Formats: sequence, structure tokens, C-alpha cells
Amino acid sequence: MLHLFRATRWIAAALLSVAMAGVAQSAKPEPSYSADPQIAAALPQVSAQRIQANIEKLVSFGTRLTLSAQDPASIAAGHGIGAAREWIQSEFERYSRDCGGCLEVKTDRFTEEPTERIPKATEITNVYAVLKGTDAANAKRMVLVTGHYDSRNTDILDGTGDAPGANDDGSGTAVSLECARVLSQLKFPATIVFLAVAGEEQGLNGSKHFAKMAKDQGWDLEAALNDDIVGGDKSAEQDHSLVRVFSEGVPVAASEPDLRRIRSLGGESDSASRQLARYIAEVGRTYDVGLKPMLVFRLDRFLRGGDHYSFNQQGFAAVRFTEFREDFHHQHQNVRTDNGVQYGDLLKFVDYDYVARVARLNAATLAALASAPAPPANVHILTRDLENDTRLSWEASPGGLASEYEIVWRATTSPEWEHAEKAGNATGATLKLSKDNAIFAVRAVDRAGHRSLPVVPVPER
Ligand SMILES: [Zn+2]
Repeated sequence: MLHLFRATRWIAAALLSVAMAGVAQSAKPEPSYSADPQIAAALPQVSAQRIQANIEKLVSFGTRLTLSAQDPASIAAGHGIGAAREWIQSEFERYSRDCGGCLEVKTDRFTEEPTERIPKATEITNVYAVLKGTDAANAKRMVLVTGHYDSRNTDILDGTGDAPGANDDGSGTAVSLECARVLSQLKFPATIVFLAVAGEEQGLNGSKHFAKMAKDQGWDLEAALNDDIVGGDKSAEQDHSLVRVFSEGVPVAASEPDLRRIRSLGGESDSASRQLARYIAEVGRTYDVGLKPMLVFRLDRFLRGGDHYSFNQQGFAAVRFTEFREDFHHQHQNVRTDNGVQYGDLLKFVDYDYVARVARLNAATLAALASAPAPPANVHILTRDLENDTRLSWEASPGGLASEYEIVWRATTSPEWEHAEKAGNATGATLKLSKDNAIFAVRAVDRAGHRSLPVVPVPER
């Protein structure tokens, strides 16, 4: 075990006590990254014009309700969810041709039996493209971005009336597509999955099926990014400099022993999804994406849910991106004018430059994670003795990309990591800081400075 007991340690201890006085909440959070030049160079390739063309195409199908037409004649006529699905698949295939066949384009198709919002058995199809990792030992690691391509109007069972779904969720589908187009021009050691799901409005049916498949097949899925309503609706009170990032606190998939530990040690804000949200905040400070992630420490908005929850239920880290201020006149509404108020999810309310900035934040996050080493395994905090030091141990990051490890920590009252210390290429460290007063985590770092998601230790006697 490496003992990191140096003079700098006392400086760090002093910094921590400053943080605990509450000062750090308004200060720029530490630590900071340096940008990967390859990722930074790719981000300007994300095109607001392409995103606009893709959202316009999605709206052109009239309705994309999961219960709408998907017979061959309707697909040929360009109407209904079947036509939307075929077009999304053809787009992924086009991107793949442009990268020498680098994408594997697939569908996850199943029949959903009748439910309250699905009157008769209905075929649901998720469409996805896989950019396989180039490193044999890391290709099984995955990160994912998704949007839902189904839409709805006022009546959740109306399969023929217009349901443009420009923002909800043409915008998120366009983010997934544009990330695929731009990132397929690059290579990463780990795998990136670009997904478009259906059935969201009927009850998260598509994402539930997909996340369960990922779980059943033992996917090593480190992160799922769900973009839903990221159109930057042009209402007067919109803030186009912010995108909200929702993350669950206490994991829905936590076991009883997990819950006992969370209760006793104050782990309510340290789910894997929350670490992913903090990672996104760091990416937002590192790369010039043109907007700021605003972390919201709750699963979702009041009265609403989304596809990230399906991944959370299977135990995966997943977050939701949503514009700062939603206009509910423009969601789940028949297109109409009432008392001079325009209702409906129309193209004219979408800010394509805003969607492009959200896509850049997503692309930077996916690229940073797919470039990074796997997180360290079996991270423990030793609690054998009553003492004022903190002893951490871990197993090497699997896959061989890590060249060293970093300890991060923050005051128990602080939302984001405040401090980082290099621990070298070791599998343990002792800090002259009390584990009772801070929350610690360990992350793996490669030679180029790519960081893994941090892992909060579990106590070990
Ligand atoms: Zn939605």
C-alpha cells in the first residue's frame, strides 16, 4: 500500500476545512481536466443544420405514435412510426458507409402485449448503431446515448392525428444521430452505442426492453445518456445557456444491504448515476460546448418520467438531459390555436443551435468515457480501527489502459468533487484526512489524462 503522507497532504487538509465552511460551493469546483485535442477538434463538426434537417424529417412522418402505422404501404408513403424507424436505420447505415462500415446497425424488435396505453399487441422496434471499441481488452466496455423517436398528441391512443414531436423527442433522436455521425469518424478503445427507442410515451416500453436485454446479455454498460426534450423551446423565459441533467440519488436498483449502508454513511448523493452527472459537469467545464450542464439532484421532473429510468432499474448509471424551461403547451398537445395560444410540438419552437450544443456536450461525454480506462475495481475504505486517517484500497482498472489513479474527495455537504490527489500506479493510499468528514472516490487515469468515472469505496473491516 502506498502511503501518501507528504507535506502537500497538510495543504490539502487545510483546503478541505475551507470547503467545509461552505466557501467552495460558490468557487469553481476542483479538479479540472485538460481537453483531449482529438475530441475538442471533433465537436465543431456537430452541425445545427444537420440536426435541423433530421428533426424536420422526423416531423414529416406526421405522427410517430408507437400505435401508428407500420405496414409496408404506410412506410412507402412516409407516414407513421414504421417510416420513421426505417429512415433512422437508413441514416445510421449511411454514416456507416462514410466510415468504412465502422457502425454495426441493428434493431431490437419485440411484440408488446396489450396494456392500458397499448390496446392491442404491438410490435415495437428500437434502432441502434454500435461503434465497436478498437482495443480488444476494452471493446466490451460500453457507453450509450439515446432519444425516443415516438411522439404523441393529446390523446395517447390517437394513431392517426398529427403528432409532430419536434422537441419531444425529435430533438433527442437528432442528438443520438448526430453523435453517431460525428463520433464514427473517430476511434475509441471502448464501444459507443447510439440508440433511438420507441414506446416511451406508452410507458417506456422500448427502453425497458433494451435495458433488460443489456442486463440479460451482461453488457458492461458504464453510462447511458438520455436526451429527451432538448430542443431549447423558444419561450421568453428559456435560458439557452443551460441544460438540465437529472440523476437519481438512492438507486432504484439498490439491494437492502446497499440501502442500509447508504443510510448509515450518508451515501444518498453518490449513486453511479450521480457520479456520471458530476462527470458531465466536468466535461462541460473542460470542452467548449457552448452551454453549461445544470445538475439537478433528482431522478426526473415532477409528474414525468423518462428512458434513463429503465436503465437505472437494471442497475446501470443513467441520466436525463432536458432543456432548462419546458413549455407544456408544446408537449403532448394536439396542434391547434386556443384563445390565441398556439399548442403543439412544432418545428418553429425548436432552437437548432441549442440542440447542437446539447449534442456537443453528449458527444464530448461519450468520447471522454470511451477514451478513458475502466474504473478501478473493488474500491474499499478500511474501517478496522478508529483513526483519523483514511485508508483506501482498490484493484487495478481492468483492460490495461490506466497508468495511474487519482483520489477525489469533497465535504459531505458539497455537490461536486472539490479535490484530487494523484496516487501513482498503486492499489492503495492513506490520506491524512478523516473519512468521517469527507466523501472519497477513486478513479483511473491514462497517460493522456483521460479519467474514468470515479468509484466511491465500500467499507471493509
Ligand atoms: Zn419525451
